[in-house]
Amino acid sequence: MSLSEIKTRIALSAAAHGRRADDIHLIAVSKVQPNDRVEAVLREGHRVFGENRVQEAQGKWPAFKEQFDNVELHLIGPLQTNKARAAIELFDVIHSVDRVKLARTLARLADEAGHRPDIFVQVNTGDEDQKAGIPIAEADALIAECRALDLPLKGLMCIPPVDEPPALHFALLAKVAARNDLEGLSMGMSGDFEDAIAQGATHIRVGSAIFGARTYV
Ligand SMILES: *Cc1c(COP(=O)(O)O)cnc(C)c1O
Repeated sequence: MSLSEIKTRIALSAAAHGRRADDIHLIAVSKVQPNDRVEAVLREGHRVFGENRVQEAQGKWPAFKEQFDNVELHLIGPLQTNKARAAIELFDVIHSVDRVKLARTLARLADEAGHRPDIFVQVNTGDEDQKAGIPIAEADALIAECRALDLPLKGLMCIPPVDEPPALHFALLAKVAARNDLEGLSMGMSGDFEDAIAQGATHIRVGSAIFGARTYV
C-alpha cells in the first residue's frame, strides 16, 4: 500500500461516519523500517511519525530533522523513567504515560527543559497482565494527576489485545475519554484503523500498511 492510498481510506472512513478527515491525524510508524523507506515518505511530504523506542529514534531522527522541516515525532512505545529526559528532548508527543511516577518525572524534567511535550495516557483496556497501560479502574486517577501536574494532556491511547475484536476496546477507550472531558483518542493501527475512526479516533498509528512489513533482524 502507499501513503496516498491510506489517506484515501481515512477520508472514506471519515465521510462514512460524518467526520472531517482533517480531524484524524495520521502517525506514520517508522520503527524498524529502513531509512530509505522513511525518507521516501518524508519526500512525499508527510511529517508526522511514530517510534517505539527512544534509543532507536535518537539514532535516526536528528539527521532527518536537519534535512526536513517541521517533523513531528510521537513516542508510542513504553517509556522507562530513566529515558524520560531523552524522550522530552526528541519527541513532540508521548502516548505511553501509564503511571504516576512517570507523569511526575516528565513534569519535573519538562520544567527543566523548558518544553512540555503533549501527552496521552495509555490505558490497558484489556486488563492484560503483561501489557503496558494503566488499568481501567485507575485511569481516572492518573488523568487527574496529569492535570494536577499541568502536563498538556491531549487524550488516551490503547493497544487492544490481539485476540479480541478491537472495536470493543476502542469504544471503551472513548467512554473513559468522554467521562474525563478528553478529546484525543490515539487508537487504530494498520489492521484496524477504519474501526478506530468509526469509534472516534483522532490519532491513528499506521506502520506496515504505509512502509511494508517490518523485518526484525
Ligand atoms: C508498531 C506499532 C504500531 C503500528 O503497527 P502496524 O500494524 O504496523 O500499523 C502502532 N502502535 C503501536 C503502539 C505500535 O507499537
